[in-house]
Amino acid sequence: MGTRRKKIVFATNNAHKLEEVQAMLGEYYQVLSLQDLGENTDIPETGTTLEENAMIKADYLWKKYRQNCFADDTGLEVEALNNAPGVYSARYAGEQKSSADNVKKLLNELQGKDNRNARFRTVIALIQDGKRYQFEGIVNGVITEIPAGESGFGYDPVFQPDGYQETFAELGLDIKNKISHRAKAVEQLALFLRRK
Ligand code: IMP
Repeated sequence: MGTRRKKIVFATNNAHKLEEVQAMLGEYYQVLSLQDLGENTDIPETGTTLEENAMIKADYLWKKYRQNCFADDTGLEVEALNNAPGVYSARYAGEQKSSADNVKKLLNELQGKDNRNARFRTVIALIQDGKRYQFEGIVNGVITEIPAGESGFGYDPVFQPDGYQETFAELGLDIKNKISHRAKAVEQLALFLRRK
């Protein structure tokens, strides 16, 4: 069966993301990482939107390898901050990309604000046989007053998804991976690819 599966490249070297996507596409596609291609470039994310950044990464791979490929980009969008940090989520508090510093900055910016609504948004850009497609996954929630929980990464300790009393970091990966922005975007991608 392995040899009959179609190959598709995911612009990541994050083992966790790769595993998550492979699990959803497994029967139909063999998902290759940047490492599998021998690609070592840290593709620059120079766009000003999630859509642009995802497409920049997919484009880079398509132009170089002419293999069907997709790339993702995620941001935390906070209503009271005009959707910041958004595309700059990883480096909100500076180029050192420290999650602890990012969370601290976010809580400072929200001090005294009643509206704590936020959402995680993931955009996936797919290039298949030279055609470009985009998929999106959103999870709505609120930013808590203080961090709680140990699991996950990034802003997980301060993001409480709608319908839950716990943060992503308290809920744990089993629940998070079922309801997350990334899971929803990958689900859309998987639905599309399975129809092909
Ligand atoms: P990326 O596009 O997946 O690399 O995500 C960009 C940044 O958004 C990360 O560095 C994190 O700060 C934040 N982020 C993305 N996904 C999550 C998540 O699931 N939980 C918490 N933070 C996240």
